[in-house]
Amino acid sequence: MKGLHFHRAALLVPVLTPPIENGAVLTRDNTVLDLGSFKELKKQAPTGSKIIDHGEMVLTPALVNCHCHLGLSWLKGKIPEGLGFFGWLKAIMDYISKEGEDDPSARICDAVIKGLLLSRDAGVSLVGDVSNVFYPSYFKKDISSNYPLIHLFLEKIHPLTEPLELEKPAVLAPSVESFSFSAHSVYTCSRKALRAIKKACNKDDLPFSIHVSESKEELEFVRTASGPISDILRERKRDVKSFFKTASSPVAILKEEGLLDEMTICVHCTFLDEADHKALSKSRAWICLCPESNRYIHGELPRADRIFEMTDRVCLGTDSLASNHNLSIFSQLRSLYNAFPSIDPERLFRAATLGGARALGYERRVGAILQGAEAKLLGISGFTGAKKEVFDFLCSDALEERIETVGP
Ligand SMILES: [Zn+2]
Repeated sequence: MKGLHFHRAALLVPVLTPPIENGAVLTRDNTVLDLGSFKELKKQAPTGSKIIDHGEMVLTPALVNCHCHLGLSWLKGKIPEGLGFFGWLKAIMDYISKEGEDDPSARICDAVIKGLLLSRDAGVSLVGDVSNVFYPSYFKKDISSNYPLIHLFLEKIHPLTEPLELEKPAVLAPSVESFSFSAHSVYTCSRKALRAIKKACNKDDLPFSIHVSESKEELEFVRTASGPISDILRERKRDVKSFFKTASSPVAILKEEGLLDEMTICVHCTFLDEADHKALSKSRAWICLCPESNRYIHGELPRADRIFEMTDRVCLGTDSLASNHNLSIFSQLRSLYNAFPSIDPERLFRAATLGGARALGYERRVGAILQGAEAKLLGISGFTGAKKEVFDFLCSDALEERIETVGP
């Protein structure tokens, strides 16, 4: 039969179910029809199906990057590491205003494509991309079908008391599978705007994403309405007193405003207190860790060990190339596992795959090898250990050079 393939490998890691030695995945075109032990599955093989033997490789689902800003990929290597959050923010704002006379549409379009290529080559099948412009306004080029899927978060910044207009775009760019609104942060949106954005997401049962507790400057502003963030807002003629009300933490604001639930993705969560941990785990909100971005900007990592103790609702992101050297989720895994070896690597790998897919609402399509899902798989070479050691391998070895995309 046309398009029927048996992918056999020494070890299959479906993610939702335990690893299978001498495993196989039966695919038709871009869809997984079945999976299991090669011997068993082969007995029921439809005639005409083609066997593709991946030898000693490990087969896994491709990874999910839940938080990126592909449109900032043009800033790769331009912002030095270790500037601190305030210095980093200033550097980005300077760059963007300096490049102002260029055509931003062309620059962003090229940046998105560059970011998608890097993501694909690092084994990513789905990106939660945050942008403050909607793609069709500049996205002229068609994207190749083997690029990662995109859930676009159209990000709003609204430090004003006036109502926020949330107009849905009439058409989605060919590359965008789905979209929802997101808020930049609790310090750049009034509480009224935050509620409006969340309400618009809930109405369509779509994910809501927001940067949360990324920096100490953010905490200072939230607690006192002063400090460097307040200075930037005032420089930009924002009336902090009118739009902002202090709280004990950014998570406390989200809780007070009823914004924490299963569809909310809190990105970063680098500086959480115990009350934040409890509020996040009770609400079942997602925590999206972007460890290498935090390290790049200010050198501190989120307490991932504590986060994994409190909740299973964890996914991973890279943030942009303005604060990361790469767009590799494997690299985020390594950084986290290296810093927190007490975290079960199976749970880490799940966060990098199914966690991200669930957070973005794609769990039936990507993030696990299961019947009906898309055949977006990775073949990874170099694993020689016992079956139970595979997650340790997936979270600690530099795999980007050893992965092959396995597809139709
Ligand atoms: Zn971000």
